[in-house]
Amino acid sequence: MSNFVEFTFRGQPGYSEPTAREVITSSIPVRTIAIYCFDPRAADAAQAVADYFGDEVYPGDLVLDEADRKIGSTATVFPLIVGGGRAADALRSITVSQHLFGIERVVVVHHSFCGATSFTAEGISAAWKHEHHTDISSLYDWDGISIADFEKSLNYDVSLIRNSPGTPKHIEIYGLFYDIGSGELTEVVRDVPAKVA
Ligand SMILES: [Zn+2]
Repeated sequence: MSNFVEFTFRGQPGYSEPTAREVITSSIPVRTIAIYCFDPRAADAAQAVADYFGDEVYPGDLVLDEADRKIGSTATVFPLIVGGGRAADALRSITVSQHLFGIERVVVVHHSFCGATSFTAEGISAAWKHEHHTDISSLYDWDGISIADFEKSLNYDVSLIRNSPGTPKHIEIYGLFYDIGSGELTEVVRDVPAKVA
C-alpha cells in the first residue's frame, strides 16, 4: 500500500529541509493571514480584508511550471477559517505560516450575528452534559470561543495572538468587525509594534 511519500517534499530526491523552505517561501508571497468564521455568510471576509488594506492580492492566481504543475500562487492573503474566527484555533497556523512564508500581518475578523454570539459557557456545557454525558466545562477557555461583545472578543484574540511565543514579534495584528449585511469592515483593535531602527 502506498504511503504517498512521492507527494511529499521530504520524499523528493536530494531533499534538504532548508532548501525546501526556501522554495516554498519564494513561491508563496503570502504576508497576511485573515482569520474568520466558517459561516458561509462571512465567506467574503478575505476579499474584504484585501480591499481594506489595499496593498494585498486575493484570491490571486495559481503559478504553474512548464509541466503545468501547480507550484505556487500570487495571493498575499491566506484565509484561516475557524469557528467564530477565534484566535485560539489559529495559533498553530500562524507559527507555521511564519516559518514557511514569513508573514507581516494577522487580521482577526469577527462577524455580525455569528453563531458564537448565541451561546454561553454555561449553556454549551450544560447541553453537552445532557446530550453527550461528558463534562467539558473546563476543557476550553470559553472567553476564547463564545462571543458576548465584539470589542471584548477582538481585544481578547489580538492579545492571545500577541502573547503567544509562536507569534513573530514584528507582525501587525488587527481586530476587525465584519457586518455581513453591508460587507463593511470596522477596525476595533490595532496592535502595530514600533519599528526597530
Ligand atoms: Zn460565525
